[in-house]
Amino acid sequence: MKMNRREFVKAAGTATAAGLVGVPHLALGAGKKVVVVGGGTGGATAARYIKLADASVDVTILEPKTHYYTCYMSNEVLGGDRNLETIRFGYDQLAAMGIRVVHAAAERVDPVARVVRAGGKDYAFDRCVVAPGIELLYDRIKGYSEAASERLPHAWQAGKQTKLLRSQLEAMPNGGTAVIVAPPNPFRCPPGPYERASQMAHYFKQHKPKAKVLILDPKSKFSKQDLFIQGWKALYGFGTEKAMIEWQPNPDPDPDAIEVDAKDRLVKTSFGDEIKADVLNIIPPQRAGKIAQVSDLTDDSGWCPVDKKTFESTKHPGVHVIGDACIATKMPKSGYSANNQAKVCAAAIIAMFKGEEPGTPSYANTCYSIVGKDWGVSVAMVYRLSADGKTIAGVEGAGGLSPMDAPLEMRRREVQYAYSWFRNITADIFG
Ligand SMILES: Cc1cc2nc3c(=O)[nH]c(=O)nc-3n(C[C@H](O)[C@H](O)[C@H](O)COP(=O)(O)OP(=O)(O)OC[C@H]3O[C@@H](n4cnc5c(N)ncnc54)[C@H](O)[C@@H]3O)c2cc1C
Repeated sequence: MKMNRREFVKAAGTATAAGLVGVPHLALGAGKKVVVVGGGTGGATAARYIKLADASVDVTILEPKTHYYTCYMSNEVLGGDRNLETIRFGYDQLAAMGIRVVHAAAERVDPVARVVRAGGKDYAFDRCVVAPGIELLYDRIKGYSEAASERLPHAWQAGKQTKLLRSQLEAMPNGGTAVIVAPPNPFRCPPGPYERASQMAHYFKQHKPKAKVLILDPKSKFSKQDLFIQGWKALYGFGTEKAMIEWQPNPDPDPDAIEVDAKDRLVKTSFGDEIKADVLNIIPPQRAGKIAQVSDLTDDSGWCPVDKKTFESTKHPGVHVIGDACIATKMPKSGYSANNQAKVCAAAIIAMFKGEEPGTPSYANTCYSIVGKDWGVSVAMVYRLSADGKTIAGVEGAGGLSPMDAPLEMRRREVQYAYSWFRNITADIFG
């Protein structure tokens, strides 16, 4: 009698449940095991690409949430041109490929015993991919805390927080001020705070023309700065008396010097300024997700050192770290980078399982920012591994920024490219 795979699995399961002994040990489950911690951009991509490369690898994702909200395009939700549902993704397609998706938070990765502890169980692995994103360091800002983020949202992890910040912007009076406290380097999505300011101003321009956005920045320069400022001048009167966006660089080079009063929505800087906000968006300093800290995958910087060719931890062999949590030298902490690193890591793991030497990768990142109506800008870069294998460095002459003198038609087209990038990357991650 011929049995298909599904019938076989069912029969084998029944036999085990009946406690039968002497059932021959068949090849099922005899493949290598990969446990992926975090089903976000990096983790879901790694799981999917490992499974696509070799369906016999047993892949498990540990992820507490049943749905993932992308941070990319979440600023457009704040700007009102998109609703939250359009940035929400589930795991059905990954499960349909045979990836086991377990909705539990990993408590610890044990690189010696090669198990991940989650939900009271141990998940054994031959290789583990850790992609937990960031931990927000709430207490680096005096007066701020996770509890205070219910009133002063960060919205730096999308979903509930995005919805809260959007509802506060909607409730804000015409003539009010939304303050964004930008984070120090390094942080998730270097252009993100400035795209956010743009999207807030985009919303105010249509519905509350007397309102404005103030960015308090512990940095003195930022990503795509000239392009943002050009767009702000054209769309929001930047630099004039009627400016809808104001950028205050370097109010406190030391982010610890910023203090907030959550009740009154006040920001105090060490220069003695006291700013009253109607909406206060605090983006705190960051480091690698907590599981990376408790599993000894980080160094003194708070981020995870990795072998740049394979993304294997330099602290614990057998464990790979990708996405925002890892130190990828010149590659920014972006969704594109996380997706790209996941593919490099997946290919390396498959090669290692076959006993082959992983290939030498090249890497890429592109990041679009939607500054306003029909106004998109981008930065792109191709990277290579340096000869000593220690750095991921930009390839000279590759990539670059949108030209400053681009015609309006190109700015308009870049918004459409941004939407098409979003459709492609989310299909690439979640199937
Ligand atoms: C406002 C904003 C706009 C952005 N725009 C862009 C953009 O236009 N383009 C771009 O490329 N990037 C953008 N980014 C950056 C991008 O979102 C991140 O760089 C990317 O999500 C990083 O992927 P990751 O896999 O490292 O982390 P994440 O995508 O955050 O995934 C981490 C996952 O791990 C899970 N997790 C955490 N701890 C555990 C645990 N202990 N056990 C199990 N699971 C755990 C989390 O629940 C989460 O699902 C933006 C970010 C922000 C904030």
